[in-house]
Amino acid sequence: MTQADETPPPADPACPICGKPAAPAYKPFCSKRCADVDLQRWLSGRYAIPGREEDSLSQDEEPRDG
Ligand SMILES: [Zn+2]
Repeated sequence: MTQADETPPPADPACPICGKPAAPAYKPFCSKRCADVDLQRWLSGRYAIPGREEDSLSQDEEPRDG
C-alpha cells in the first residue's frame, strides 16, 4: 500500500534573513549571523547613524508660542 497523502510536519518559522530553518538557539533566525544581520537592519532603521546626515532640514527648533 502506498499513501500519497502524507501530512506535512509542523512548519517551523523559517529564518527571515536567508529562509533556512530556524535554530532553537537563535530563533527565529537560523544562526547568530542572520540574527546579527537583522539587528543591524533594525538599528539602522530605527536609530540615526552618527556622522551621517541625510536630512537637509533642521528640526532642532520647535515652534513655540512665547
Ligand atoms: Zn538565516
